[in-house]
Amino acid sequence: MEERITDKQLDALWKETHRCHQPGCTSVSLLTTLQCDHCREYFCTRHQLPEVHGCGGAARQQAHTEFKRDQRQPTGSAEPMSDQQRQVLQSQLRSNIKAKQEARKKKKKG
Ligand SMILES: [Zn+2]
Ligand SMILES: [Zn+2]
Repeated sequence: MEERITDKQLDALWKETHRCHQPGCTSVSLLTTLQCDHCREYFCTRHQLPEVHGCGGAARQQAHTEFKRDQRQPTGSAEPMSDQQRQVLQSQLRSNIKAKQEARKKKKKG
């Protein structure tokens, strides 16, 4: 005997998979529901942060191990930035910000 899954059942299954896993939260949206890297559960935009739904410890631990891994790597031949280089970078950053601000102004007007 073949068991058929109805559209309704499929819909319920889909909602169950993509519903925010935070207790009490009923947000269901494929577009805004995101999977947590730590617990592999789905959360809405409000609860996607590890700290919010209870994965803060796992997230911190991961960040810690990544930090450790980074430290173990040889620093290579990176030289400290010269004053001149720093000034060039700063002016580049400033003109970047200015361009963004100008673009925003134009958008507001239109
Ligand atoms: Zn999580
Ligand atoms: Zn939620």
